[in-house]
Amino acid sequence: MAAQPRTQSYRRNGDIGPDVQVRRSARRRRTVSAYRDGNTVIVLIPDKFTQAEERDWVGRMVQRLETKRTRKFSSDKQLMNRAAELAKRYLANAVEPTSVRWVKNQRGRWGSCTPADRTIRLSHRLAEMPSWVIDYVLLHELVHLIVPGHGEKFWKLVDNYPSAQRARGYLEGVAAAASLNVDDCS
Ligand SMILES: [Zn+2]
Repeated sequence: MAAQPRTQSYRRNGDIGPDVQVRRSARRRRTVSAYRDGNTVIVLIPDKFTQAEERDWVGRMVQRLETKRTRKFSSDKQLMNRAAELAKRYLANAVEPTSVRWVKNQRGRWGSCTPADRTIRLSHRLAEMPSWVIDYVLLHELVHLIVPGHGEKFWKLVDNYPSAQRARGYLEGVAAAASLNVDDCS
């Protein structure tokens, strides 16, 4: 009788990427594979892997999947489609931007918008980040097209997005790390 695959779920230490579920299988010899299910990445590894091998492969596979996802909507058109999807799912289609595009001239801001003509711009630096972080910034700007400022009404709408809090933490971490680098260079 074949052994049941052993499954272990965890949130990687100090990481704010997707949740990870590792499944060990005795039938698996050398191959590792991974796929995404919602906000969880499932990594399948051979049972004989050590803890170190597991850590190594989980890191690699998560990175690979995240990069793939980010590339999926890396053009302006894909960004526009993504915004439409988010508006539908989290804002009941209450807002429809006329343009969403990547910009390179944006310093100190992840995203910006102009409610008068319903345009949104995202910093190209976001393109390297996990898609759930990009989604957060997109949704943040979409909400600004309806609600100016960061009041209670604003956050209530933004928090419709389940990973909003985690994404804010991620961006704060990136910003903090970046300014630390600047200090190191001076
Ligand atoms: Zn804002």
